[in-house]
Amino acid sequence: MTRSNRTDHIRLTSHPVPGAKHQFPITWGAPTARERGPIIGTVSRPQDRNVIGSHGGSYAVYRALAVSSGALDPIRRPDLTNTHPAATIGPFPQWSEPGRIVALDPFGHLAAEDFRREIAEGVDIRPSIAVTRARLDLPELQAALVAGRLKVDGDVVHANGSVSVVKIAIDPVWYLPGIAARFGTSETNLRRGLFEQTAGMFPELVTRPDLQVFLPPIGGTTVYLFGDVARLPDARTTITCRVHDECNGSDVFGSDICTCRPYLIHGIEECARAGQTGGLGVVVYNRKEGRALGEVTKFLVYNARKRQEDGDAAAAYFERTECVAGVQDARFQQLMPDVIHWLGLRRIDRFISMSDMKYDALTSQGVDIVERVPIPDELIPADAHVEIAAKKAAGYFSVEPPKPEDLSGSVGRPLEKY
Ligand SMILES: [Zn+2]
Repeated sequence: MTRSNRTDHIRLTSHPVPGAKHQFPITWGAPTARERGPIIGTVSRPQDRNVIGSHGGSYAVYRALAVSSGALDPIRRPDLTNTHPAATIGPFPQWSEPGRIVALDPFGHLAAEDFRREIAEGVDIRPSIAVTRARLDLPELQAALVAGRLKVDGDVVHANGSVSVVKIAIDPVWYLPGIAARFGTSETNLRRGLFEQTAGMFPELVTRPDLQVFLPPIGGTTVYLFGDVARLPDARTTITCRVHDECNGSDVFGSDICTCRPYLIHGIEECARAGQTGGLGVVVYNRKEGRALGEVTKFLVYNARKRQEDGDAAAAYFERTECVAGVQDARFQQLMPDVIHWLGLRRIDRFISMSDMKYDALTSQGVDIVERVPIPDELIPADAHVEIAAKKAAGYFSVEPPKPEDLSGSVGRPLEKY
């Protein structure tokens, strides 16, 4: 690259010509993708960019490694042939209701269709949402079949125990004025916080107030739909929903200190049943490991809990987290309802969760919750009763109040177990 090219590149990405019009303006909340405008986070044609950050969420860093090591051509554009959605999602009125969706691009799965012409002309426009079909095969669901809690219908649940789903991957796309409003802060304050806490990773947060959309380098969301997706737009469809925040240790590895996998599986079972009986099941899986504090923090907290003199008691559960991380929870469910809005849902009939934070986030944003379904006692691992008791004591929803013995005594096992 010549010196003049390099200078040109820097000017275009961080300091636009004063008063210059954007070639691809974004009108967030517009009713169609074309009126809204494409989301362009390319780094190969800086003059086309209309957002801060780049595509792929946290995986942008791996893309950088691929480029740095010579494995990936930095200006390569994706070939999107045959990648279009395997099921129809939307459009729904929520997509253009003011302030309703601020953390994802409602047209993100349709980018290749909606901007076919621009893409053909060489503009690097990428989908931020992908919709596909799959089957799940989980040992717990096989057990549910054997126990008779789940039945084979040949459509949702198959004779071999596998379960048909539509699964949807969603990368975050943040409309900064809307995000600031959700958190009750100013856009300037939000931009400054994002700039400083990423150690200046995205200078445009403070130098380009004209760019209002940010592709944050964080994990996204996966949605699993059970049942006939064509029922989604019908307001009479009974919706069963589990919103689950990632817990890798339990979800994948079966670590028994918490209830995450049992709760997730319970949600999947309920959702599969909903899909079989004329309704729809919706599992939302958010990459927010360790209450969005990360797994290192989480494991530090486990140690701090187990090494307390009076053992791993429920009363100290949230306190220990705050000692290590400074906050009890960084998931901030304010942004979570966006995916429910994106699916066009205004009511959840059966909400498979005890979390007041999730419940409050949904209901305060206009999603009615008819019934809250707690996890059956027999599905709670023995070592996870500390967590359950702490959550009940902290005001989480439950059918029964916590038992006094759960709150006072030590029910943790020796540290060596972990
Ligand atoms: Zn967990």
